[in-house]
Amino acid sequence: MTYRNKQEQTKPEVTYQTLSDFLQNTPPNKLGHILDLAVPKNAGPYPSVEKRINTPELRLHCPHELCKGVRFFRCVDLLVDKKSLDQGTLNYLYVRYQCSNCKKTVKVYSLAAQIDTILGPRGTCYKLGEDPPYGPPVSPGLIRLIQPDSDMFMQGRKCENQGFGIGAFTYYRRVVENQKNRILEKIVKV
Ligand SMILES: [Zn+2]
Repeated sequence: MTYRNKQEQTKPEVTYQTLSDFLQNTPPNKLGHILDLAVPKNAGPYPSVEKRINTPELRLHCPHELCKGVRFFRCVDLLVDKKSLDQGTLNYLYVRYQCSNCKKTVKVYSLAAQIDTILGPRGTCYKLGEDPPYGPPVSPGLIRLIQPDSDMFMQGRKCENQGFGIGAFTYYRRVVENQKNRILEKIVKV
């Protein structure tokens, strides 16, 4: 086996995902390889891209009383560090999305993005943060059930959403230990 073959075999395989999947389903402090990071300019034999970030439609949970479910969110504002996404340098940006149904709920992402090459839309994106915080909504019924320890439960939720499973387990275990009698009573009632 030649040295080159060996190198190719040990090279980790990169998995690409769409920008909407990355924004919706990736917790903060994670890097993603994005299929459609830049806006495509022209198709045909010589495709190229406009050096600006794509802002795809997203499907997110909207807690507003008019919605209370998954709705379309569209980009309403884009604040960029530099005008263009240059190859080889990071562009820091804020992307502001708004619920298209109630027009009230807003979601903001803080990202660092960079295109792979000006010939295609692929690139890498780092999610620095998001507001409101990442994670599926917690049912109000669950919060009521564990009321005296809901703050501790939410700390665990925060850990779980950031990928710190062991930290989350410690919080959840304390909630269950404190509340085991109440939870059992509720189960017996059901
Ligand atoms: Zn809404």
